[in-house]
Amino acid sequence: MPGFALHSGLGVTMPPKAPDRMRWCKTCNQFLPATQFGNYLNAYCHQHWVLWNRAKRQAYSKSHPGYDSARATCWREANPDKVRTKNKATAAQQKAAGYPCLKTWIRENPEKARTLWREGGRRWRERNPEMAAAARHRKRARRAHAPGHHTGAELILLRDQFRGLCIYCQQPADTWDHITPMFRQGTNFAWNLAPACRSCNSRKQCSDPLEFIKNATPTPEGEQYIQEALQRHAETSETDQYVRNPYEKVSEGALWDEVRQVFKALGRVTESTLKGAKFNVSTFRRRLGTLTQINEILAKE
Ligand SMILES: [Zn+2]
Ligand SMILES: [Zn+2]
Repeated sequence: MPGFALHSGLGVTMPPKAPDRMRWCKTCNQFLPATQFGNYLNAYCHQHWVLWNRAKRQAYSKSHPGYDSARATCWREANPDKVRTKNKATAAQQKAAGYPCLKTWIRENPEKARTLWREGGRRWRERNPEMAAAARHRKRARRAHAPGHHTGAELILLRDQFRGLCIYCQQPADTWDHITPMFRQGTNFAWNLAPACRSCNSRKQCSDPLEFIKNATPTPEGEQYIQEALQRHAETSETDQYVRNPYEKVSEGALWDEVRQVFKALGRVTESTLKGAKFNVSTFRRRLGTLTQINEILAKE
């Protein structure tokens, strides 16, 4: 029995017939004891099978950014005990090795800590532009007392729906536009948002959306989206004023002034307790009910 490759006659080199308890590794290009193979279907010895799989795995990670971190997050969520044990072990190990305590380090290097903190924030915003935009919009909505809210995930869906292009001129979009501006009683719901290029966004600013669209060139899909948003705005602008941004701090809005008056009139709370209190609207609603309910209580008393 020959110990070298035979030609089948079809231009394909076949491995020779294996001796007893020996198997062929494609990479080693020779017979190895069967004990060096893991799965009996493998065409590679254990060492080469690991290498081949690692390369495949790395290629997959490269073509699917975010896959590894998502998988790690899932694992951590599923195994909180293991994470805690591991963290504790690492902390003990670092303490034994004479690592400095992070809290002490921050206390001793406040300037450096602040720079690192800011740098971390900047890197996060770069990696998660939609999340950062949603947070920015929440802040602006709170200042403008605009109702509605959306998440970064909703912005990602919108970005993909319009293939990352400006809804008004189909140039690459790098900003987000409130179709009905928040300073024109527009809401901060996702349906009022559209990807826009910097140029269109700065030309539009607080102007009337209807006027602006006359000079814009949206795709049919974009046109429909804009019209739906305007329609929806017309329907919701007159609705319950308490359908608001749930992140709005009550202490900052007109709502808070009303609440303050009602409660002072009831003699239930003093000015100083109100000053220190910081609720967002949902917490507030959970604790005290809506203003209508409060007014009902007031009317009864
Ligand atoms: Zn091998
Ligand atoms: Zn544009």
